[in-house]
Amino acid sequence: MGKFWQRISTPRLIAQFGWLVFANALLFGVPSFGTIAWTRNIYFPDATTKFLQNAPTYSIVYKLQDTLEGGFITYYMDLVIPLLIFVVLILLLGRFWCAWLCPLGLPQDLLTRLRRWLGWKRVELPPKWSVALHQMKYLGLFLVIFYTLSLGFPGLGLPGFRTSLAIPYEQLDPNRAMYVYPQIALGLLPPNTIVPILSLLTFGFFLMTCFPIRRFWCHICPAGAMMAPFNKYASIHLKKDNSKCTHCGICARVCPMEIRKVWTEREKENVTVSECVHCYRCVEECPEDGCLGVSVMGKVVLESKSPNSELTNTKEGVAT
Ligand code: SF4
Ligand code: SF4
Ligand code: SF4
Repeated sequence: MGKFWQRISTPRLIAQFGWLVFANALLFGVPSFGTIAWTRNIYFPDATTKFLQNAPTYSIVYKLQDTLEGGFITYYMDLVIPLLIFVVLILLLGRFWCAWLCPLGLPQDLLTRLRRWLGWKRVELPPKWSVALHQMKYLGLFLVIFYTLSLGFPGLGLPGFRTSLAIPYEQLDPNRAMYVYPQIALGLLPPNTIVPILSLLTFGFFLMTCFPIRRFWCHICPAGAMMAPFNKYASIHLKKDNSKCTHCGICARVCPMEIRKVWTEREKENVTVSECVHCYRCVEECPEDGCLGVSVMGKVVLESKSPNSELTNTKEGVAT
């Protein structure tokens, strides 16, 4: 294993913290991303700022929800341009956001680090469960859209759904409890600011699942569902030289998204799948020189290196 400062995980961690500070710069009295005029139509998959005082919301899931709630016909232009920009960004960067910038990715990665530091083994999901779980994110996105349509279009005849399952996404988003309480502690929000009980339960669920299971929330996240279909067509992708693969399985063991395709693929060069969050743990830990790599517009910018081969002999292969 390379030294801390030589590992791809290190700049990733710095980027995750850096983005969190930048995205929440309003806390420090500095204009943040969503307050700059030319960025108004750029929406990201997930945003903590929904729950920051006076901060704009620039999460595409909330944009979708809020616009549909207001009536799509009236506001369609307000949604079409952000959606187009969003799709173009995903086609350029894939789900790069998820591993490098997402404010919900960071706490999940920190929980994994904490578990490893405590010496606890992770809970391994059986492959079939993992595949089934990955599909849940589409159900989540469907419910967000269906719920908001029932609000925005009373004429659609969905009032039963509206009253029986009246759960907007902000009540299910773990960001709420995670970021409102620190603001109360800092005196930025009044102490009597209410966090709905459902949000607390979701946050508890987030902690309980993401501690033993790596990136559990990403398996079911509706924002992930919006990115996933475009991921493998993105200009940035994982490439594999199958002639160099020894089928050791390390790439599957280290993958936080439980992806096995990089390991099992025997022919194709592009091994990016819809669930890949572009963390490059597989590239970092693959013990074969040049076997795995990251390609940006056809140019390889990162490749696996053989010095990592010491990992093949450890019991768990690598820290997971
Ligand atoms: S899938 Fe995970 S990392 Fe990606 S937007 Fe959702 S919570 Fe964030
Ligand atoms: S870690 Fe590298 S050599 Fe091992 S199975 Fe994965 S791609 Fe092949
Ligand atoms: S396939 Fe590789 S880059 Fe993608 S999520 Fe898994 S470890 Fe990360």
